[in-house]
Amino acid sequence: MERRELVDRALRGVEAWERRWGAFSPSPASRPDIDLAALLDTYAARMDASFPFFHPRYAGQMLKPPHPVAVAAYLAAMVVNPNNHALDASQATSPMEVEVMADLARMFGLAEPSLGHLTSSGTIANLEALWVARELAPGQAVVHSQDAHYTHGRMCQVLGVESRAVRALPDGRIDLDAVETELQRGNVGTVVLTPGTTGLGAVDDIQHALALKERYGVRLHVDGAYGGFFTLLGEHDAYRAIGACDSVVVDPHKHGLQPYGCGAVLFADPAVGRFYVHDSPYTYFTSDELHLGEISLECSRAGAAAGALWLTLQAFPLERDRGLGEILAACRRAATEFAGRIKESDRYAVHLEPTLDIVTYWPRRARMSEISVAANEILQKGMADAADPVYLSTLRVNADAFATLHPDVERDAETVTILRSVLMKPEHEGWIPDLMAKLDQLA
Ligand SMILES: *Cc1c(COP(=O)(O)O)cnc(C)c1O
Repeated sequence: MERRELVDRALRGVEAWERRWGAFSPSPASRPDIDLAALLDTYAARMDASFPFFHPRYAGQMLKPPHPVAVAAYLAAMVVNPNNHALDASQATSPMEVEVMADLARMFGLAEPSLGHLTSSGTIANLEALWVARELAPGQAVVHSQDAHYTHGRMCQVLGVESRAVRALPDGRIDLDAVETELQRGNVGTVVLTPGTTGLGAVDDIQHALALKERYGVRLHVDGAYGGFFTLLGEHDAYRAIGACDSVVVDPHKHGLQPYGCGAVLFADPAVGRFYVHDSPYTYFTSDELHLGEISLECSRAGAAAGALWLTLQAFPLERDRGLGEILAACRRAATEFAGRIKESDRYAVHLEPTLDIVTYWPRRARMSEISVAANEILQKGMADAADPVYLSTLRVNADAFATLHPDVERDAETVTILRSVLMKPEHEGWIPDLMAKLDQLA
């Protein structure tokens, strides 16, 4: 079914539900004194400024539109506008959230029962995990990689928690020896691990970090905002170790086909729910059952986000050989093929073999400063070509890491700007020859 058909069908379902309550016309959609058609045209003209995230020629940042199934489900629920804060505000969509959280917990191999909920973003999901970590070990530091998402340092600041950034290896994985040094220095409560860093797509060795948890009694938090769903492919041991960690975050609005407004946090120990306890006098009146607002820092949350994820996971289950796994596998193949083509090229070089679906590469030059200039030029020229544009992104990497990987390049700067493509659409797979031809032309 096409998107329009899916949306029509979903909206018809809601309209049937509306009719059940008897004849009533909600306020009219338009005012006689306003030319709504013209306003909508103006709106469309404003939207025209957007980059085409849906098209494979957008091979830059971690951006793509929601799947049509998610669009249909989201719109239908949005018309009702449930609030998953309280059960009485979301009788339909709160149970859906409970179901999708069970699916996510199973995907990560968390033992039952675990505790979790959706959030409005990966930032809020990580904030909640770090807040729970602080409540369990007040006054103790959080250790994360310098390549971890910047949100960890910032949220530690919000929480009044000391954060210590440790070195990343040249390939972007956290240096677990550096982590151990910090643990020996003492007063560390939590270590953050990232299975899929936002910049390079590096997967931290969570399986080896488990030994540190044993030895030092430290808490392990996994930030799978971007990479969490790659658990489905079972390609890396790191993913099999997530189930033995204490908390994990994943963003369905990144690789879970959802529109923005959908992150998730899960805790291995449901007893941490006690930190969330509050005694609101104006909510929770219809049921003694758990209200999601009782285990969440946010109050109002779009029930539509839960509804959209629920329907999406019915259509694309969390399985390796069908559903979401198939989509991620296509993205992986696109990345591998793109990296292979770059390696054959004499104009570009691969920075790192892609671990997930992020490919990092650079225009061949003798000096680091020249690479940075050329990468920025290619980025700009690619976007500026109105007839046949291509959208890439850049990444600033540390000169030491770059020099370790590419010793032939002269080190004349502290950082190097390279090119980065997140190939997060299955459609990228068929588009690699075009992308490569375009890159050659830009060089
Ligand atoms: C995107 C991302 C975040 C932040 O999540 P938002 O949903 O953008 O708030 C945190 N950690 C990692 C690893 C990410 O990729």
